[in-house]
Amino acid sequence: MDLEQKAIARLQMAAELSEKYYQKPLLLTYSGGKDSEVCLELCRRAGVPFEVIHNLTTADAPETVYHVKRTFHQLELEGVKCKILHPQYKGKPTSMWSLIPDVGIPPTRRIRYCCYHLKEGGGAHRCTVLGVRRFESISRADSGAAELPGKRKSGKIIFDMDNGDERMIAPCQRKAKIKIHPIVDWADRDVWNFLREAKAEMNPCYSMGFGRVGCVGCPMASKARYAEFRQWPKFENLYRKAFAGMLDRREKRDLDMPWKTADEVFRWWMEDKNLDGQLDLWGGEIGGGV
Ligand code: SF4
Repeated sequence: MDLEQKAIARLQMAAELSEKYYQKPLLLTYSGGKDSEVCLELCRRAGVPFEVIHNLTTADAPETVYHVKRTFHQLELEGVKCKILHPQYKGKPTSMWSLIPDVGIPPTRRIRYCCYHLKEGGGAHRCTVLGVRRFESISRADSGAAELPGKRKSGKIIFDMDNGDERMIAPCQRKAKIKIHPIVDWADRDVWNFLREAKAEMNPCYSMGFGRVGCVGCPMASKARYAEFRQWPKFENLYRKAFAGMLDRREKRDLDMPWKTADEVFRWWMEDKNLDGQLDLWGGEIGGGV
């Protein structure tokens, strides 16, 4: 079975579980990036009922926001239900720019609290489709085609979906959030070949030379952030303002002040010296307040 057929078989199996146990169609989480573009096209080709959500991160490039809007418009013409979710923190509307002062630390590669609050909303009690791939990063290398998330990453249960793992039934019966990763075993070239063949309308950020589409300034982009801030300078100003607000709040809370100015935070953050040692820097503070 080739990769496309395997992915379609996963989606068809997941759609059956979703209809049978959740009495709802599959829910595709669409970010506007290439992997979610593949999943969207595969849902169409699988001929399964599905709905689509997009989490508004508030830090996406304008091109991404417009691309999502155009895609949703097209999907609605096709009769697919779409919804944009606005992020919340402690029950109130939030954004990247208020989240940083509220949490009190900059988002880093190791502490991506922003993803949890801005990007991972929706999907409770649903069978959810995501464009997660093992080849994307070390942290995703152990991903499976179907997963039951745990409270911690180490607590997740991976199902052998391709071989009809029956352990999937019990969580579906209690309408737990199940994550389906139809393209978990696709490499980058498989993604691009598929999208080229499908003539998919792509997020313009790719043709502008960016290899990944996510929040502008995402710490996962490392040095590519310099090019991002050259392309979208307003975002650099927003981060600087958020870091200034963060320092004010830390001072008021009488917390450690490893930097004196927002500029110091920004330069430290851009140099990406925050990969290791971040936890040491703040001692045990990080886990609790986030
Ligand atoms: S900045 Fe990166 S880690 Fe944070 S929400 Fe955006 S994509 Fe996730």
